[in-house]
Order: sequence, then structure tokens, then C-alpha cells
Amino acid sequence: MNKEFQEALPVLKRLKEHGFDAYFVGGSVRDQLLKKEIKDVDIASSATPEQVKALFEKTIDIGSEHGTIIVIVNGIHYEITTFRTESAYEDNRRPTGVTFVSSLKEDLKRRDFTVNAMAMDDAGTIIDFFQGKEHAEAKIITTVGSPHERFSEDALRIMRAVRFVSQLGFSLSRETLDAICEKVPLLENISVERKTAEFEKIMAGEGSGEAMKLVADTGIIDYLPGLEGKKQQLLNASILPISGLSSNEERWTALLDVLEISSIEAFLKRWKLSNRQIGMIAKNIFYLQKRKEGDLTRQSVYEAGLPCTLEVEAVYCLIKGETMSKGLIAELQAFYKNLPIHSKNELAIGGADLMQFSSQKPGPWMGELLKKIELAVVNDEVENSKEAIKEMLRSCNLI
Ligand code: ATP
Ligand code: MG
Repeated sequence: MNKEFQEALPVLKRLKEHGFDAYFVGGSVRDQLLKKEIKDVDIASSATPEQVKALFEKTIDIGSEHGTIIVIVNGIHYEITTFRTESAYEDNRRPTGVTFVSSLKEDLKRRDFTVNAMAMDDAGTIIDFFQGKEHAEAKIITTVGSPHERFSEDALRIMRAVRFVSQLGFSLSRETLDAICEKVPLLENISVERKTAEFEKIMAGEGSGEAMKLVADTGIIDYLPGLEGKKQQLLNASILPISGLSSNEERWTALLDVLEISSIEAFLKRWKLSNRQIGMIAKNIFYLQKRKEGDLTRQSVYEAGLPCTLEVEAVYCLIKGETMSKGLIAELQAFYKNLPIHSKNELAIGGADLMQFSSQKPGPWMGELLKKIELAVVNDEVENSKEAIKEMLRSCNLI
């Protein structure tokens, strides 16, 4: 049993001591089997949310109506979900109500894919009713039960299937692939936020190329904001190994470079990204364009700032088929650090000094002149000191 499970054992033990059934379930069991890094250890139990809350000192109620309580033990968060089935599915979305059931098997049966439907007990024994282990070995994503039914119940599973292709490097089973192609219009009923979360995971997985091809070929693309009719562009983008990039913003930047989108901001708004993210990506795209036109300059690095410069360079390297080396990162960091100033607040003079040097009335000329001085300092054409700047202004007849 992995370290993450060992640490979580006291949670299972406590539930069991009080007469409840409790198992590790879902992604963590799958990832242990695949020898992948384990993220969250989730637990399923016969205890109801109220019973869980009574048993543990620190709990957070994130959705007791769905049966989920977080317990915090030794600083680690564990989601404990009461064994449940999802009774009424409405509009091909997650159910509004859940029914708590007494058996683990019922709980595992409502899970999406066989590799996600395994459990492990406190002795480390894997419980596998739906051939999850076999499918994990064969690297196959296939639904628990009829894929047509499962996608009709919850159409987000269509994108989740492709997400696991990307994250795990698996393939879809024939039946699951066929059902996706048939049920893809049901994605109409899924909120943009949930599609965005899955799409970002699709971009981040090691199998992103294969997964993007699936997005294009199965028709999922037609239900994604702003991607309708962009099949060829997405296929072109699928060749780029974007999972090697280190943030969602970098990945959106690389994707947008290939997608031929006319208004970046409007496109990203449709995906409901935050204004902060949209700002960062639009800025990246602007400086990527500059980077493609020529070498980095003091001015562009100064104006973009270090984080943007590094992000853009990573994307630029990717487009050229290279990876950004540690040496290059260090070089850029040093280049930035050695700039004479890093913001206009660091300029040795300000508006008040200009007024003193000149007999003119205050006006827009001051801002324009300060901008010129800022650039001259950045480009090392003048030293960043009051005297040197004054001297330059005089010699150029600017004051
Ligand atoms: P990751 O490691 O990326 O978090 P995960 O398998 O833990 O992957 P989650 O989205 O965190 O994925 O979901 C946890 C578990 O809950 C899944 O393994 C699956 O058993 C179940 N599950 C989640 N969403 C659904 C869904 N829409 N339909 C059915 N089962 C689901
Ligand atoms: Mg998870």
C-alpha cells in the first residue's frame, strides 16, 4: 500500500471501529495500480454525512445532500462519500437527488469508467467488480455498463472519457467510442464551466495529441465554445506537445497560435475564463507575435515583464520543436534582472522634476516625455540619474 494510503488508514480504521464499511475508491486506487502519482485519496463509506461529521473533529460540509463530507486528518483533506446511487438524471446532467445505498457494489456501479470503479480495503485488497484491473492493464477506457446509457445519464462523461485518454495515455474501447459519436449532441446540456475544466485537463495530459484528435474526430469540437468548424485547425494543434508546457495559460497561448481565432478576448470569454487569465493569455499572444518577428529586445522584455517573457519563450520554443532549457531560463532571468529599471516608478525623475527643468505649463507633453525617458533608460541610452537625464534632455533640446 502506497504512502498516501498508509497516511489515510486511520480514517478508514475509525469508520470501521464504529461499525461502518469504508474503502478507498476512484482515481487513487487506479493511479496506485498504474504506478502514477496519487493526488487525492477519496473514501466511500456506509456512514451517512451526519455520522461522518460526528466521528471526526475537523470536517467541512461540501455537499452533504450529495453525501460528501471532507475530513481533515493530520492536515490532509479526505473526501468521504456515503455509498450512493444517482437516481434521477435530468437533462443529461448530474442528478439532482441521490439515494444512499448500503453496498459498495452499488456505489461502484454508478461510477463512470471501469478503471475508476475499483475500491481498496484497509488490508490493501483491490475490489474490482467491473474488470477495472484488466482494462487498466490493456490501457482501455470503457464505461461501467452500457456506454449509451451512461452518456445519456451524464453527458460530461463524454469529455471525461477523452480527458482520461489524455491523462493516462489510454485508448477508448470500440463501444465507448461509438457511443460518444452518437451521444455527442448531449454535450449541449453541459455548462461551459464544466467543459472548460475538462478541456484544460485534456490539454495538460501527456496524451493530449491523441485526445485532441478525438475531440476533432468525434464531433465533440462542435459543442465547444468558438471551436465549431475548426476541425482542421485543432488537428494541426494536436501535433504540438502542449502538455510539456507548465500552465494552462501557456497551453491556451500555444493552442490559440494555431487556431486562427479573430478575437482572442471574445473567444476566451466564451470559455468563461477569469478576466485575469484572459488578460494573461492575450498578453502572451501579443508578445508571441512580436517574438516570431524578431529577437527579444530590452524594451519587449521590460514591457512584458519576466513571467510573460518566460511563458512566451516556452511557447515559442515549443512551436520551433524545442524545449526550453534551464540554461535559457537562467539567461532570461539574468537579462531581466540586469535591466536598468523594472517599472517607471524606478525612474530617477518624475513629473515634478520636468516642471522644474522647464518653463512650460503642465500638460500631456509631460507624459510623452516621461515615456521617451523611460525607453531611453531601459535601452541604456542614458543613465538612470537626475543629472544624466537632465543633460540628455538639454542636449536634445527637449527642455
Ligand atoms: P483525477 O486524478 O484527475 O482527479 P479522478 O478519477 O479522481 O481523477 P475525479 O473527477 O476527481 O476523477 O472523480 C473521482 C471519482 O468519482 C472518479 O474516479 C469516478 O469514480 C467518480 N466520478 C467523478 N465524476 C463522475 C461522473 N460524472 N460520473 C460518474 N462517476 C464519476
Ligand atoms: Mg480526483
